[in-house]
Amino acid sequence: MNKLKITKVENSAASSVDFNNIPFGKIFTDHMYVADYIDGEWTNMEIVPLENLSIHPGNLAWHYGQSIFEGMKATRDAAGTPLLFRPEEHVYRLNASARRMCMPEFPKEAFLEAVHTLVRLEKDWIPPQEGSALYIRPFMIAMDSALGVRPSDTYKFMICTLPVGPYYPKPVKLKAEETYIRAAMGGVGEAKTAGNYAASLYPAKLAKAEGYDQIMWLDANEFKYIQEVGTMNIFFVIGDEVITPITEGTILKGITRKTIIELLKDKGYNVVERRLSIDEVVEAADRGDLKEVFGTGTAAVIALVDEIKYRDKVMYLDPSKFEVAPYAKNTINGLRNRTIEDAKGWVVEAGATVEA
Ligand SMILES: *Cc1c(COP(=O)(O)O)cnc(C)c1O
Repeated sequence: MNKLKITKVENSAASSVDFNNIPFGKIFTDHMYVADYIDGEWTNMEIVPLENLSIHPGNLAWHYGQSIFEGMKATRDAAGTPLLFRPEEHVYRLNASARRMCMPEFPKEAFLEAVHTLVRLEKDWIPPQEGSALYIRPFMIAMDSALGVRPSDTYKFMICTLPVGPYYPKPVKLKAEETYIRAAMGGVGEAKTAGNYAASLYPAKLAKAEGYDQIMWLDANEFKYIQEVGTMNIFFVIGDEVITPITEGTILKGITRKTIIELLKDKGYNVVERRLSIDEVVEAADRGDLKEVFGTGTAAVIALVDEIKYRDKVMYLDPSKFEVAPYAKNTINGLRNRTIEDAKGWVVEAGATVEA
């Protein structure tokens, strides 16, 4: 592997950003990481000042959708040390998405070197506020300039970083969707691929017009079993069970989901991964047993749910009475700013072993 080349900006724009008021997704840091896939190997790995790409109109990613991404976050501890959370998990999933979309895998070592070095370089962009973070967006796109439905021979892998504040400051309202689907068995629901999100936009727009923030997706065969929500996995507390749908091929395998399952089990909660039907949720709500609903994902961390609509039934929840979700949120946030000791080895110092 060739050495990572770094070209720095002359003046960082970090000091011009108000970290108490950051619009999600709009502020990019000074630098980005770029690598090219040419002649069957990854090459030209470098960190450069953020700039536009020049792309041919025949770019295969635009026409036929070979485009995958990841989302991760860097935080800092009280001393300002930049921290990453389970970074290897993200390269494993990136490469699972790559295989499904017939794209080349990106080497794990190069991925980790890139993330560590870039975050180290951009450490002044990590907002100190709890719940805020430096969002890291690795992505890969096809780069061949030709029409024709076939796998591209060339690709670009890039990483951009963006300071972000809390994603959902308020509890969210969900609509259980019965007309459109997100993913079917054998499809691409497990891949973090661009088209999944494009396909969700129109149903999400209709839900918003009805006053709902997000769609709760149901399975494609029967519109019965709960899958997930937007860019979050979902958890239900029913009686003394904490239930989250099992990822059987249609649900994105969230790293936050996996983390929270483990944290809650350690705490002694009865966490169950299984199929969960919307009817079971309605019955639990009618009995008074539906105690909590929350979404989990890197961007939102934990989003509390205060309303779910299914057909003409509306179920209300009172997030001020939630216990499991706040425990999970405080524990993850505490691990990520090192106010809670990390016994799992999930939190790693960014760039401890690289120079930037
Ligand atoms: C990214 C994503 C999630 C959450 O995954 P994390 O690894 O926890 O960030 C859940 N669902 C979908 C559809 C996603 O794209």
